[in-house]
Amino acid sequence: MKNAAQKRVDAGTIEKAIAALHAKLGNKVVTSMEVRRQHANTTTWLPNEAADAVVYAASTEDVQDAVRIAAEHKVPVIAFGTGTSLEGHVNAPMGGICIDVAQMNEVLAVHAEDLDCVIQPGVTRKKLNEYLRDQGLFFPIDPGADASLGGMAATRASGTNAVRYGTMKDNVLSLKAVLPNGEVIRTASRAKKSSAGYDLTRLFVGSEGTLGIITELTLKLSAIPESVSAAVCPFKSVEGACQATIATIQSGIPVARIEFIDAMAIRATNNYSKLNLAEAPTLFLEFHGSEAGGKSRPSASATSRPSSAAGRCNGRRKPKNARSSGRRGTMHISQ
Ligand SMILES: Cc1cc2nc3c(=O)[nH]c(=O)nc-3n(C[C@H](O)[C@H](O)[C@H](O)COP(=O)(O)OP(=O)(O)OC[C@H]3O[C@@H](n4cnc5c(N)ncnc54)[C@H](O)[C@@H]3O)c2cc1C
Repeated sequence: MKNAAQKRVDAGTIEKAIAALHAKLGNKVVTSMEVRRQHANTTTWLPNEAADAVVYAASTEDVQDAVRIAAEHKVPVIAFGTGTSLEGHVNAPMGGICIDVAQMNEVLAVHAEDLDCVIQPGVTRKKLNEYLRDQGLFFPIDPGADASLGGMAATRASGTNAVRYGTMKDNVLSLKAVLPNGEVIRTASRAKKSSAGYDLTRLFVGSEGTLGIITELTLKLSAIPESVSAAVCPFKSVEGACQATIATIQSGIPVARIEFIDAMAIRATNNYSKLNLAEAPTLFLEFHGSEAGGKSRPSASATSRPSSAAGRCNGRRKPKNARSSGRRGTMHISQ
């Protein structure tokens, strides 16, 4: 957000910068108000503060050209992935140039045997997972929105799968970035083991475009689990849900997702989605593992009666041994 000392770049300077951009990048530069507003924050209560021009970059070289021109004219640069960030990240309170990398959306390489891939920053997580599906691999970080992987790295995105797979900080192995002076750096190699040098990858992950613009990412991949099952578990109290979560993780149960929704939010969900979930603090869980793991999963609470709805199994792919009542392949948690 703008503070009192921050002013928009003066009109003369920005005009010169845009003329230089047009000369170098032609019709990749767009200045229509509609496009500029679409590239500023649209998802929060914050006001929409548009940049002065949007550059649709198609390559690292385009990003370098735009960044160099911005540096020469001393105008701000705002990177843009898909614009799903929720805190006004893509606003341009002082004006400047928005660099949209959505067209840099190629999967460059998949190294299935090494469980990693190399992609351009505009690839979205859904597109990557569609691409990987045939190979039995997936990229597990899921922030809900179909965000770009460059934007997800820049915001150190997490999501419901973080319990098992971590966040972007655990899944970016290396990246290529254009620095504010136009220089290109690569932060690491694909090798998992390296004890030398600064960990620049982690410095960039979460830096929200302030250190440079990411133009390539090497990501860690995971095997699609053999068995996925899910459970919906209402509790008498929020504390009960918290204790059960701690116990679940400490027991080493292969839980991939745990989402908590309180009673008021359940009521809103029921009203909006026409469901009839019990209006109570509720955990939604998803388990990833093997068929054998599904069979050995606890099928009853060791300490007290399971709640009535605990154990309702709404898994996308129930383990073969799961009955429709969901007693098997489903964990029962005490309240
Ligand atoms: C319904 C919904 C649910 C969400 N749930 C979660 C959640 O559970 N966890 C979570 O972490 N987030 C969540 N988010 C927020 C959002 O999805 C993430 O912040 C996402 O990582 C942003 O990606 P993006 O491509 O939209 O980035 P943008 O919004 O386009 O950009 C975000 C920031 O990254 C910078 N940036 C973008 N691309 C680059 C690049 N190539 N190089 C350098 N900087 C760049 C931008 O300048 C900006 O500062 C949610 C959003 C929605 C709408």
